[in-house]
Amino acid sequence: MPIIINDDPDLVPRCPHCDAELTEISATTTVARGSSSFTMGKRYVYACPSCRKVLGFTQRKGFWAG
Ligand SMILES: [Zn+2]
Repeated sequence: MPIIINDDPDLVPRCPHCDAELTEISATTTVARGSSSFTMGKRYVYACPSCRKVLGFTQRKGFWAG
């Protein structure tokens, strides 16, 4: 059964940690490395600007890693 996603421009996400309204999100990048010295890609770390707890990660792999 497909999930219907409603585009809600008035939605303000809340931090699951401190319940602050997330009108903006802090982000930083870390460089992920494998067992060799090759750079595996960049990781983006998203954090609540109020309590600085991590909300999630994304990872961009190198083109050769798929
Ligand atoms: Zn927070």
